[in-house]
Amino acid sequence: MRTKIVKITEGNRKEVLKKAAIIIKNGGLVVFPTETVYGLGANVFDDKALSKIFLAKGRPGDNPLIVHISDKTELKELTNSVTENQQKLIDAFWPGPLTIIFEKKDTISNIVSGGLSTIAVRMPSNYIAHKLIHLAGVPIAAPSANISGRPSGTKGEDIYNELVGKVNMIINDGDSKIGVESTVIKINDKQILILRPGAVTKEMLEKVLFPLPVFFAKDKNDLQSSPGTKYKHYAPKFKLEVISKEEIKNKAEVLKNKGLIIGVITTNQNKDSFKEYEPNFFILGDENNLEEISKNLYNALRFFDTHKVDLILCQSFPEVGLGVAIMDRLERASA
Ligand code: AMP
Ligand code: MG
Repeated sequence: MRTKIVKITEGNRKEVLKKAAIIIKNGGLVVFPTETVYGLGANVFDDKALSKIFLAKGRPGDNPLIVHISDKTELKELTNSVTENQQKLIDAFWPGPLTIIFEKKDTISNIVSGGLSTIAVRMPSNYIAHKLIHLAGVPIAAPSANISGRPSGTKGEDIYNELVGKVNMIINDGDSKIGVESTVIKINDKQILILRPGAVTKEMLEKVLFPLPVFFAKDKNDLQSSPGTKYKHYAPKFKLEVISKEEIKNKAEVLKNKGLIIGVITTNQNKDSFKEYEPNFFILGDENNLEEISKNLYNALRFFDTHKVDLILCQSFPEVGLGVAIMDRLERASA
């Protein structure tokens, strides 16, 4: 398949969006930016197009897709039931990086839901994503734009390497703003369960639905309800270990003295202690700025695709706020 690659400019935006929407309508695949990570999208009502997503990514069929809408009214096309609590979260966080699980309409294909009776829906805030869905006139099912098991694409160039020849179009609009995938939640009248942590944090959810308790599915052993979480994810090409910034210096030195080639992922605060590991050395940003860290996280993992090392040591982060999502991805990447 020939892949049309376009970099968005002031001048071509309208034209590109028009062409991309036609591809979606005609059953093709388009890679497009969202505020979290890039998505690999197809028309949610076209089974053949949906199957192509799984083929392009090498994605297991029981790993369901998130459906993206451009307007809250489109939710009616996907589910018949929106509870009061779900509506409160929609009002608080859409458009934005929160994916909510609903009971799906019978007419929605099992290919989207991975055989579940539920459907995951999100309304992205990114302008290109919003316009594309609107112009296509249908909700767009889109997992992250990457080969299954690899870190999600957060810049156009990463995606060229993995998906050229497998999709009809790649829209490159620079770096993803957030850099980790959306928060995925399931809610009933007793609790909110975070199936995947993201930029909408536990603390933010608690505020909106107080006193409803919020749990991480990890703690509740309820991850079978989010099938994607059982698969290998975000893996860099070399082994990764996540340890505290205090341990990282010692461990790196010991292993280096044993003749191993060590890669280091750390923060501005630690930068000067690791000069000797150049060029196998990546700075995520300021350790107190978790937005900056999450934005650069997958760049760090992909950086080591082209730097041959025996082991990558990455600094850990406190598991509060966005730190939970960062540590979740790092733990999976190192599993
Ligand atoms: P990605 O494909 O990288 O965008 O990830 C999508 C995530 O959403 C995966 O972890 C899926 O398991 C999860 N997901 C999608 N649909 C559902 C659903 N109906 N119920 C639970 N989790 C879902
Ligand atoms: Mg993914």
